[in-house]
Amino acid sequence: MSSSLRPMDLVSQPAPYQDRYKILQKLVAHLQKVRPNPSKSTHKLAIGLEGRVAKTSASAQSYRFNMSILFRDLTKHKGDLSKIRIAQKPIVSAAKPLRENVTKATAMEKLRALLHEISVLEKNGYNMSSVSSGAAQDSVLAVHETCVRCNTKFERSNIMEKTLCRYHDSKKQFDKANRTYQYPCCGETTASTSFLRLGCKTNKHHVFKSEAVESLSEISEFIKTWKVEGEENVLALDCEMGFTSLGYEMIRLTVVDFFTSKTLFDEIIQPIGEVIDLNTQFSGVSDIDKQLSLTYHDAMEKVVSPNLINANSILIGHGLENDLNVMRIIHRSIIDTAILYSKGKYKVSLKNLAFEFLSRKIQSGEHDSSEDAIATMDVVKVKNGIPLDQKDWD
Ligand SMILES: [Zn+2]
Ligand SMILES: [Zn+2]
Repeated sequence: MSSSLRPMDLVSQPAPYQDRYKILQKLVAHLQKVRPNPSKSTHKLAIGLEGRVAKTSASAQSYRFNMSILFRDLTKHKGDLSKIRIAQKPIVSAAKPLRENVTKATAMEKLRALLHEISVLEKNGYNMSSVSSGAAQDSVLAVHETCVRCNTKFERSNIMEKTLCRYHDSKKQFDKANRTYQYPCCGETTASTSFLRLGCKTNKHHVFKSEAVESLSEISEFIKTWKVEGEENVLALDCEMGFTSLGYEMIRLTVVDFFTSKTLFDEIIQPIGEVIDLNTQFSGVSDIDKQLSLTYHDAMEKVVSPNLINANSILIGHGLENDLNVMRIIHRSIIDTAILYSKGKYKVSLKNLAFEFLSRKIQSGEHDSSEDAIATMDVVKVKNGIPLDQKDWD
């Protein structure tokens, strides 16, 4: 009675036939579990669903990932096919039509409703008022800083003198089985007698981050964007940062347009201080070529301008206070997905938001400010009923 079970033939297969066959068998079993009274042949349905995932997956890895999303969603919606989406498209078109386009005015109205009060921004670490920079002020830069990696206190003016900083690049985690703290980067425990417990990585310099607005403005002054007239726009942005002799500085900046999804600015940026560590493992920036990159001041001149960030911009980001502080920007119209969509005391990560609301896997290796800016923007769209793929407005 049931049709024979074999994966759909495709011109290009994302995964070997045998793998697809095995997953297809599992899918049939899963469908039988979540849909006890099926109205349609389970085999036929499984072949169709697997085929659609296979067609829309570019690699074996994404195929396996997308299949795991499908299994998850089938469980979550108890087999209700009207709620299942593959490659962001519903599979039952009659049950749930494609999201209707919205007008620009409607989108703007939705976005304005999300803007945070100034007091909320301040509470979340945003600098909302610049520091008076009176003439001949004494330096407010601390004489001593504490290394954020090894906790050593050192003289700030000596930061470029060679020393040994030994550290782990992941936070220790409590291991219940052995009742000790373990570092995921290397597996050492705090109870270890090896010197490696002090750190599996070394660097010739300590590193620090200063967060006080006064010291940040002494390195370069904050720019008030409301002094820059310009067109109304909505921009998603994200920075990558690295350690320098002056602390924690911007080394890459990406700005994406909300309505066109086009990248308007994506540049590697030379920090003001001397580079100590580009944090390549996280930042994805491995080299700053002076010929191919902009200085901090040139970059800011381009970015804070009538057609990019100006008085009439709405800025979208995740934990955007960090980005705005390294950019030295004071801006009032902010949509911060870390504030909006966190529940409880701890802020949700962009990685988790992207997985939950976009079924998208980001930051599995190096971070990419372009990918992160787009993910933040797309989370806002999905949560507010604005189609991800809408390109025409009004
Ligand atoms: Zn380690
Ligand atoms: Zn150190």
